[in-house]
Amino acid sequence: MTGIVERHTSPVAPVVPRGGVFTPLGLDESRLAGGFWGERQELNHDAIIPHALHWLERAGWVGNFDNAASGRPYEHRGMEFADSEIYKIIEAISWDRARTGPGGADLHAELDAALDGLVDRLAAAQDADGYLHTLFGRAWQRPRYSDLSWGHELYCFGHLLQSAVANARAGANAKYLQVATALADHVCVMFGENGLRTVCGHAEIELGLVELYRLTGVRRYLDQAALFIDRRGAGTLPRIEYGSAYAQDDMPVREATVLRGHVVRALYLSAGATDVAVETGDTELLHVLETQWANTVATRVYVTGGMGSHHNDEAFGLDYVLPPDRSYCETCAGVASIMFSWRLLLATGKSRYADLIERTLYNVLAASPARDGRAFFYANTLHQRSVSVPAPVNADGLCLRGASSRREAWFEASCCPTNLARTLASLGALWATKDAEGVQIHQYGGASVDTVLADGRRVSLDVETEFPHAGTVRITIRESPGTPWTLSLRVPEWAEGASVSVNGVAEEAAPGAASVTRPFVAGDTIVLELPIEARFVFPHPRVDAVRGCVAVQRGPVVYALESVDLPHGWSTEATVVDVSKPPMSDRDSVRVHLSSADSPVRDFPYSVSAADVTPHLTASAEVPLTPYHDWANRGPSTMRVWIPAGTAE
Ligand SMILES: [Zn+2]
Repeated sequence: MTGIVERHTSPVAPVVPRGGVFTPLGLDESRLAGGFWGERQELNHDAIIPHALHWLERAGWVGNFDNAASGRPYEHRGMEFADSEIYKIIEAISWDRARTGPGGADLHAELDAALDGLVDRLAAAQDADGYLHTLFGRAWQRPRYSDLSWGHELYCFGHLLQSAVANARAGANAKYLQVATALADHVCVMFGENGLRTVCGHAEIELGLVELYRLTGVRRYLDQAALFIDRRGAGTLPRIEYGSAYAQDDMPVREATVLRGHVVRALYLSAGATDVAVETGDTELLHVLETQWANTVATRVYVTGGMGSHHNDEAFGLDYVLPPDRSYCETCAGVASIMFSWRLLLATGKSRYADLIERTLYNVLAASPARDGRAFFYANTLHQRSVSVPAPVNADGLCLRGASSRREAWFEASCCPTNLARTLASLGALWATKDAEGVQIHQYGGASVDTVLADGRRVSLDVETEFPHAGTVRITIRESPGTPWTLSLRVPEWAEGASVSVNGVAEEAAPGAASVTRPFVAGDTIVLELPIEARFVFPHPRVDAVRGCVAVQRGPVVYALESVDLPHGWSTEATVVDVSKPPMSDRDSVRVHLSSADSPVRDFPYSVSAADVTPHLTASAEVPLTPYHDWANRGPSTMRVWIPAGTAE
């Protein structure tokens, strides 16, 4: 692999490869400061994490560990993967602690105490041989590894390992890492070369094993992850109704050309395979994964960056099967997509991976939490045809449907809120990287970067911006060695016509990356100007479901037409946008020229006469759109991202 640099320090970050083009920065080196994402990190700390802790107790999922530790028979509460939600929230608290730094000690006393309590309780439930799952293996339960398709045992282990690595890097609870290594050792015995020659129905253990290897240097963890990657696709899992592609067990990872099957499974597997490829120097595998990413993004991704158009099996559709009203776009799929893209960005340095991360951050992750951080979208539809209503809940108050049309407090399968929490807490790590030449900024938002280059030179800078509300990004050098180094800024794929100026001297900057190399001095300012006016987005002609429609995007933010913004008597189902007049936008609003379309109900919704089914435009108005991520925050509504296109008569 080209560009491999051996590293000897370990950043406080979720992904710390030993090779690759870019070196990640720790959460203590790259911090968000206010703005769009900084505010969401505060919301995560103040509301989302405490809300999750409350529900994990209330739903009895933490109690499962207490019951398991007691040795007495008990009724397991929640889904097969309930254990993993506790691990993910421990991961979230760990990253949140690292993010707030030494000055955040007071801020964190309560969450630290909660974390220590959780670790004590889960550690008490661990078996002597390292196994730890609350649903299997006891005398009154199903045997261990008796349901690899649906049991989620190794999946839960993977989350425990990731979480324990996070906790170790953030420096908090020594006991947790012992639990993790004992569990990982158990997995290596049970599933090693001489063990069970199969895989888990849901990929995830691979990510945890590689990261534990990166933390501890214990090679068998990496070898075990590589074994799991190479074993998948041999049809070792039992047959299930959705077919073997559901768990990517239909063909070897190295033979696949596009992602398919259950979206989160596919993306976790790809992220784990990227980790294995990077650690083993397997350029062939890395190339395969880049091809899978490219083909998937070319044909199987929504304009929001969301993935998954099947509700039934939470899976990818065939190429261009991207119906907006059936978009599943699970929040976890957004998280998983970012995980895959981030690993490819570190490995290859290609800005396209950061472009997809940006799109997914603003239009999937940002859409999930309610403004108060106490309700969440699980599925993220692009078209809400009927006024959204509460989904049914069970006796414990848990929402029974992931595809609820409203944000819900907690779900029976509540993978998404905890995934969101751990991602928000660790966002700073996605903002910037470094290499031998200097620093790369990948995402824009108020931030500070303070790091030491490989040759020992210290570099500090501040990023000030109102992005995505405004397109000006101002970077001020706070500390520089006085010798030349390179500041590289990603120019997003949507930003044709961008410019970069250094101390007032501007140059055009094409999409990709703009680099400035010089002996910066403290006080130097670099300004990136991103053209951020709203624009229509047109779909590829093979996306049948939205043919003849347009979407509106401003910078990376996709907009939606929401019924609460329509003139009285209009419907989101009967409007046409005038594409002869470009969208209007300023810092705080986006507006389009819209017409109400009168299409009377007919005896049969088809006709041999085109005139019979051509809508009659009755009235026109300038109508505001809402950022897609902010829809459903103003009461019950209908909504659509793709709007039928026309020209006012
Ligand atoms: Zn989920």
